[in-house]
This record gives sequence, structure tokens and C-alpha cells, in this order.
Amino acid sequence: MSETNTHSIRVEPTHTSRLSQVDFNNLKFGQIMSDHMLVATYDDGAWQDVAIVPYGDLKVSPSMSALHYGQAIFEGIKGYKFADGTVSIFRPDKNWERFNKSAARLQMPEVPKEIFLDGLKQLLDIDRDWVPSNNGTSLYIRPFMFATEAALGVHPSKSYTFAVITCPVGAYYSKPISLKVETHYTRAAEGGVGFSKNAGNYALSLYPTQLANNEGYDQIMWTDAKEHKYIEEAGTANLIFRIGDSIITPHGDTILHGVTRRTIMELAEKWGYKVEQRKVSVQELIDGIEAGVVSEAFAAGTAATITHIDRIGFNGKDYTLPPVEGREFSNKVLDYLNDLRYGKSEDPFGWNFIV
Ligand SMILES: *Cc1c(COP(=O)(O)O)cnc(C)c1O
Repeated sequence: MSETNTHSIRVEPTHTSRLSQVDFNNLKFGQIMSDHMLVATYDDGAWQDVAIVPYGDLKVSPSMSALHYGQAIFEGIKGYKFADGTVSIFRPDKNWERFNKSAARLQMPEVPKEIFLDGLKQLLDIDRDWVPSNNGTSLYIRPFMFATEAALGVHPSKSYTFAVITCPVGAYYSKPISLKVETHYTRAAEGGVGFSKNAGNYALSLYPTQLANNEGYDQIMWTDAKEHKYIEEAGTANLIFRIGDSIITPHGDTILHGVTRRTIMELAEKWGYKVEQRKVSVQELIDGIEAGVVSEAFAAGTAATITHIDRIGFNGKDYTLPPVEGREFSNKVLDYLNDLRYGKSEDPFGWNFIV
């Protein structure tokens, strides 16, 4: 069965939903995908077929350029269900903008709003029942694009696939984490691709992260490529600190500009905190912890929203942060965003994109 709708997204519903096999009280992140996916193909300079089809394998060529030369980007977004059943996506317009910035940097075509945002809306509409409703749960949404031209040789691919898959995820109560300040390996350099969400940025992080794990740390705190003096971000999340009365986050093209980070900084500003986006040196942080003026430190990202940091290792010495219970700002942010995203409170900024 096939039908065409107003945005010319072809819809081919599944005949065999897997929904009844899913234990919604025991969801593991990223393991079980919803019934449908969106797939669009780009060829001859234009987006061709856009379709919502049953989730399943994609056929690729062994000479497909993404596999060899790495033109591959992605996004991470969450959808939530209100108590009345309304399904809402959190700020997907910001992910769409960032996706196209990543695309431009990797010489890939932009994905128009009608495919990205309307596509998300229709995909979540057809898989509405996959959005979990228990407290703290959500639907993780993964848009991605990769180069599909079947030819060797380093040049921009002539063809691409854009796709969106989704998976229900359980309540994420993240434990506080420890970070090792990385002073040898580098995630991103000025002029590089640190600001883009491209697949290669994650491949390069695995080995140094394993070394940090071996030393007993959960994640790496990346520092600048030139001097390893300035703090950039943590693993796959941005860093935010409260030093004195200021809410501070590192800035620049070597970090990924997170939607969560942006959201938190906007809230801080609205709530009257002093907000600073600037370079933060490791020394400033360490001195601040020792002087007792660093009252909060956390990683910010879509997966967990806020992950408190309780210990930072630098040059063989550990620095411990104040107890999580007393962290006024980050705990307030978490409560505020939980209420807003589940439709329990007003949405004064228009952050909820209702499906
Ligand atoms: C995705 C990501 C973030 C967080 O971005 P959000 O939009 O808040 O999810 C931060 N750093 C890196 C490296 C990331 O990949």
C-alpha cells in the first residue's frame, strides 16, 4: 500500500508492527528501533524520493564513498509524550540548522526544512505509539546523512541518503561522572570540523577515552589543540560551570554548539544569572575548585540533559567538586526542562514542536 500526502512524502506503513514485543519498562538505549524510518535520496543535484517506510536494512555498495572518505553526519533529538497523549519534539529547528552547517562543512547538500522538520513530524505521527509515556522516558530521534556514490577517489559524492530512525529510551538518571583533562590527544583544531556533528569526530574519541577509562575516569575533558590549556568539551556533551555568580561555558568553532547548552544559557540569562561564553583555562577551573568558588560543573547534551561532574583529574591529581544536592542552578534547570518538555508547564519560548 502506498499513498502520497501534501508534502509528497510517500508513506508505506508496516504490516507487521513490532510494538507489542517491546518491554517499555526495560528499555536499553539505542537497541530497539521504532516501526518506521524516513529515507530520502539525493541525486542529480536534487532530493528525489522521500519516503516513510518500515524500518529495515539499507542496501549499500562496497565502494560507497561514506565508507572510504567519511562524508557522514548526524543529529540527536528527543520527542516526549504529555500526560494527555500529545507528542512534542524539543527544538528540532535548532538541530535542522546545525545539520545543515555540518553538511556545508563536509561539502554535502543541505536538507530542506520540508524534508527534515515535516519529515520528523510525519514519522513521529505514524510511530506515535512508540513514544513512551512513563516519567523520564522519551523517543530518541536520529537523523543522519551519508555519501552513497559508488566510486573510489576523493571528491564530493554525487549522491546521498538522508534518513531518520527513532528508538524509545528509558528514564535516564545519570550518575555524576569523573573527567580526565586530556593534555595529549586532540578532538578538534581551529579550522577543523569540531563544530560539526560528523561521524569521524566520534571515531577519534574512542581510543583516548579508553585510556581515560583505564585510569578510572568516565570521560575525557578535551582541551585546545594548540596548548592543551583551555577547556573545550566532555566526550559527547558540552561543559558548563558555575564560578562565583557566573554561568560559564567555553566557546568557539572547536566545540559542538549543543542545543542543550544553548537552552541552558538562555535560561540562565532569563533567570538573571551572569552568563559568559568565553575561554576557560584548566588552571582557572582548578584554582576555582581549590578556592571553593566553583560550585557547579556539568556536561550538557540531549541524551541526559545534565550530567553532574564530581571529580576532575589533571596531571595526576584529582580535584573534587561540591556535592550534587547543593547545586542550585543545574538542579533548577533540570526540573524546569522536565516540566516544560512533558507539557506540565508553560512553554514561553516556543521550544515544544507539537506533532
Ligand atoms: C551532540 C553533541 C553535544 C551536545 O549537543 P546537544 O545538541 O545538546 O545534544 C555536545 N558535544 C558533542 C561533541 C556532541 O556530539
